[in-house]
Amino acid sequence: MTVLEADCAVVGAGPAGLAAARAAVAAGARSVLVFDRDDAPGGLPRFCRHPGFGWEYSRRLETGPSFARRLLGDLDPARVALHCGATVMSLQPGPCLEVLSPALGLATVRCRGVVLATGIRERPRAARLVPGRRPERGILTTGQLQQMVARGVTVPGSRLAVVGSEHVAFSVLLTARHSGHRVVAMIEAEERPMSYAAVAALARALAGVPTHLAARVVDIAGGGCVEAVEIEQAGRRRTIACDAVVFAGDFVPDVPLARAASLAIGRATQGPEVDQLGRTSLAGVFAAGNVLRAVESSGFAAIEGARVGAAAAAYAAGRIGWRDGATPIALAPQFAYLVPQLWAFDDGGVAALPASLRAGQDLAAARIGLRHDGSLLWQGRKRRLLRHRRLRVDLGELARRGPGAIAVEAGSWRAISEG
Ligand SMILES: Cc1cc2nc3c(=O)[nH]c(=O)nc-3n(C[C@H](O)[C@H](O)[C@H](O)COP(=O)(O)OP(=O)(O)OC[C@H]3O[C@@H](n4cnc5c(N)ncnc54)[C@H](O)[C@@H]3O)c2cc1C
Repeated sequence: MTVLEADCAVVGAGPAGLAAARAAVAAGARSVLVFDRDDAPGGLPRFCRHPGFGWEYSRRLETGPSFARRLLGDLDPARVALHCGATVMSLQPGPCLEVLSPALGLATVRCRGVVLATGIRERPRAARLVPGRRPERGILTTGQLQQMVARGVTVPGSRLAVVGSEHVAFSVLLTARHSGHRVVAMIEAEERPMSYAAVAALARALAGVPTHLAARVVDIAGGGCVEAVEIEQAGRRRTIACDAVVFAGDFVPDVPLARAASLAIGRATQGPEVDQLGRTSLAGVFAAGNVLRAVESSGFAAIEGARVGAAAAAYAAGRIGWRDGATPIALAPQFAYLVPQLWAFDDGGVAALPASLRAGQDLAAARIGLRHDGSLLWQGRKRRLLRHRRLRVDLGELARRGPGAIAVEAGSWRAISEG
């Protein structure tokens, strides 16, 4: 069996993993191994040829493949070895990885710090509890559509119906333009589009797509191929003729490795629970990017990767320990989740993850506050906090404090539905 050794190993070569590898080297790691099960590095962005990637990380708006190339170009080949077509099969205490690939066979990887950057997966139709008939061809997720188009595989017919209206649903509009398909309907179960209003309005205006809000799919007609989708809206049924149905959004963190290794998983995020340096419940194992929760943008995931890569190198060099005095951050019930979930007061001067905070419902006139041992450290106000949108909370002040209770509170809020 092959045995590989390195200061750090990274699982996943998407934006978070590539940025982590670069930052680990910049922070002193002499050797970094990066593994990705796909046949090329770049993660999800490499299949999305439309612009909109990388802004928070590089202050440029690039296409997905261009952002992936930038991240790859930043790697020092003398210190970073990239293994594609290499699936990490297990993660054990040590930390130690088991990797399987055509080139390596079954390999054992020993290192001091591991960064899990395995991203997300989209839930298929069955997991979304969509009833009705089951045509054999033409039912796709966004990711499958993007991959088919990027790899030159024929997508059936010419008319697509898109279920969902998160940001990625608008990525389907752009991909459809590229592949010569027409989006004939956008179907959303909620009463408003889930993407930013301006993005949604612009995309609809450009693509001229009828949007059906507060609508549910009740059937997908067709035998071999999709012929139509039937929706129910305000108690009325409507049939929309189409050749394929694309289920957009509904992402979940890709956590089989993390679960098998018994890492603590957040109930609300479904990703590994981490402190502000990305340290999981298993010593030596860090996590970064969308595996922490579904879903942030590629630039945000890359920033997380960079911070966590630097922390992993610091741990490998013995400059930081493992979550001494980690304190759970108490979260007001109006919020859906916060990443990081814990704060440890032993950061060794390593920069913290940017906070990823989401409201659990649409709120009006809200104040967000950060308290440490009862003292207000930071507060911000927002006229509207919309569910699914990232909210700002500045956890940075905690770095200057000692151990104590931490809480993120929502003050003077009311549910938008209450008027
Ligand atoms: C259709 C679509 C459109 C999008 N549009 C935009 C956009 O316009 N702008 C934007 O900023 N963001 C966009 N995003 C989001 C963006 O793609 C993600 O934020 C980004 O890819 C997250 O990076 P990541 O590194 O966390 O995960 P990923 O990019 O998902 O990378 C994870 C990697 O881990 C690998 N992996 C997983 N498990 C294993 C294992 N066991 N062994 C080895 N390798 C493994 C996977 O193969 C994958 O390459 C879009 C996403 C989708 C799906």
